Amino acid sequence: MPEKILVVEDEPSLQETLVYSLKKEGYEVEAVGDGRSALESARKLKPDLIVLDIMLPEMDGFEVARILRKEMTTAILMLTARDDEIDRVVGLEVGADDYLTKPFSMRELMARVKAQLRRTRLLREEMGQNKISEPKHETLKFDNLIINLTRREVTLNDKPIQIKPKEYELLLFFAEHKGQMLSREFVLERVWGWGFIGDSRTVDVHIRWLRQKVEKDAANPVRIVTVRGGGYRFEG
Ligand code: CA
Repeated sequence: MPEKILVVEDEPSLQETLVYSLKKEGYEVEAVGDGRSALESARKLKPDLIVLDIMLPEMDGFEVARILRKEMTTAILMLTARDDEIDRVVGLEVGADDYLTKPFSMRELMARVKAQLRRTRLLREEMGQNKISEPKHETLKFDNLIINLTRREVTLNDKPIQIKPKEYELLLFFAEHKGQMLSREFVLERVWGWGFIGDSRTVDVHIRWLRQKVEKDAANPVRIVTVRGGGYRFEG
């Protein structure tokens, strides 16, 4: 059964492009152009993922996300037009699972959509809602580095590496955002969570440990590179 995606975007040309691209990937897609219809459709369709624009007629994306968060666990990927919206998007108030800043490429969008859906699928399997007779091992492969999401195991050159749970989560987070610059703050919020007391140096320390495990030369990293003044980027 194809996964269901609800697209909420009021700009007709972008909505059309999104629907076209997602359908081409085999997803079942429904699209609406305002906040109220978004709530209605989400309740009826029970989608696996909602791609949600912020500036919408009737009710904005913030409000829509706030309401739906209380009703369902569906992943929400928000589309922002301005950088100053990002804090609210990833913040407690809205709690989007991920975001994309406009303009973005369809390739970028598809990578995020797949990452979110994979996450949802794994979560469901863990909760046992899906009775799968034969466990399928989902993996992410980056050359000689393989992340086995089912076993939560990482192998380098086919040999399992000793990886602590936090390092694993960090690596997975980066892998799911391949090619995207991730600020320390965003990583901290997403991997360590809101209750965490600490600062962004925690991220640096863990990155250092991780590099020692996945880089050929930890002093000259090519997988997890430092972005000057910003954060880090996973190159694969
Ligand atoms: Ca809009």
